[in-house]
Amino acid sequence: MSTTRVRFAPSPTGPLHIGGLRTALYNYLFTKSLGGSFILRIEDTDRNRYVSGAEQYILDALNWSGIKIDEGGKAGGLLGPYKQSERLSTYRVKAEDLVNRGCAYYAFDTEEELEHMRAKRTEAGEHSPRYDYSIREKMHTSLNLSKTEVQEKLAAGNPWVIRFKTPESGTVVFTDLIRGEIRFECNQLDDKVLLKSDGWPTYHLANVVDDQYMQISHVIRGEEWLSSTALHVLLYQAFKWEKDMPQFAHLPLILKPEGKGKLSKRDGARLGMPVFPMEWKEPDTGDLFLGFKEMGFLPEAMINFIALLGWNPGIEQEIFSMEELIGKFSIEKVGKAGARFDFDKAKWFNHQYIQKLSQEELAKEVLSFFEKSDIKTDNIKLIQVCGLMKERIQLLSELPGKSQFFFSDDFKMDTKQLRNRWKEDSEEILTNLLDVLSGLVEFKTEEIESVVKTFISEKGLSFGKVLPLLRLASSGTMEGPDLFPTLEILGSEKVIERITNLIKMDKN
Ligand code: GLU
Repeated sequence: MSTTRVRFAPSPTGPLHIGGLRTALYNYLFTKSLGGSFILRIEDTDRNRYVSGAEQYILDALNWSGIKIDEGGKAGGLLGPYKQSERLSTYRVKAEDLVNRGCAYYAFDTEEELEHMRAKRTEAGEHSPRYDYSIREKMHTSLNLSKTEVQEKLAAGNPWVIRFKTPESGTVVFTDLIRGEIRFECNQLDDKVLLKSDGWPTYHLANVVDDQYMQISHVIRGEEWLSSTALHVLLYQAFKWEKDMPQFAHLPLILKPEGKGKLSKRDGARLGMPVFPMEWKEPDTGDLFLGFKEMGFLPEAMINFIALLGWNPGIEQEIFSMEELIGKFSIEKVGKAGARFDFDKAKWFNHQYIQKLSQEELAKEVLSFFEKSDIKTDNIKLIQVCGLMKERIQLLSELPGKSQFFFSDDFKMDTKQLRNRWKEDSEEILTNLLDVLSGLVEFKTEEIESVVKTFISEKGLSFGKVLPLLRLASSGTMEGPDLFPTLEILGSEKVIERITNLIKMDKN
């Protein structure tokens, strides 16, 4: 088994957002750069927030993103189960072990007793009253009950919890690979719940036990978990697992496009940009959130974009394949400061990746977007259109709308442009052009260009008088792709039909 072992440990409380995906990606890049393993562990201990469909979503999103799981999920592995709900008996044994060794205790406090304690501490001037070393002896716990009394209470079936007995004094010190030395004073920590009488552990206990049993070497996660690490380090010490303790790295936040505050689901809706890799439908409300995929991103472009949200390789290069990212990634080059989510930059990356595709590859990628629109395509034409249009799109989803006129006569005419460009001699010009174009044996870009240009010069006309008319006739817009290849793709019959239609059209 490789010695570098990282885990991505999402809770299935909703879809994986872009911050979660970046955590998965950095874990993946880190471990792959060292020849290590990437483990997926589902942390489903928070039953109240469990969302059905979330777990499958996480698997699908990782798969679409190109992040391959070595252990967990369908990949299996020797150190499973990789889902916490399937490991409950282990947590119970470990929590009781801590109680027996004096590092944790049973607490039988009722809700009223807890309320009373909090009220008293608040009265005494504390902002967020803690359950800590200073009051635990006065509470309803195994610390001030005999062994028999504790057994009786447990047997009576009253609810209880096991709390960690945080040392009264001392400092927890650990080195974060991104943030350097981190210190927490023990007397500032509370005695967190580790396990509840329904048999379910809390995040802290399950997380540490699993990291130990799954032989995790590095814990790379979001900065919101930094303060929990104090308890995790204390748990490693209490279990006498210090020598196996993983190294920690806490990633910076992903910030709103404005640069202040954490990027949220609401920002996505507010700014019309995706904050999830793939589409997500809220099971309760039915609200639909489009993902990068449905918005028309290639997964490689999305990965390249999020790789650079917080990691700075310190070189000019911006375009990195997954292989190159693995080759260049180093956790020391991840910054502490939050990284701004710049959607224009994401689209820029996507444009770059679209340019790398051949026209055949692009045609495959855009097919599903055409299927969702009412536009009927044929394969050969779609491939030609892709070759011509690829420079002009940032998102795959833009292509059907921008190329509709190739496949259907039902396109919009820019009437304002038409009114501006239509002059007294326009009809005559187009009628003559009809003759010129229908005389062509080979309806190919070069031939079309050559006869049209000869026509313009022979008649003493200007490009500006003729080409816009041809553009509007064939596509209804002045913003379409290059004119002559467009005419070739449309084909002589269609071009002649459209010029004829424009001549007949009411211009007012
Ligand atoms: N289950 C936690 C989460 O949802 C994992 C945190 C960790 O990686 O330790 O983010």
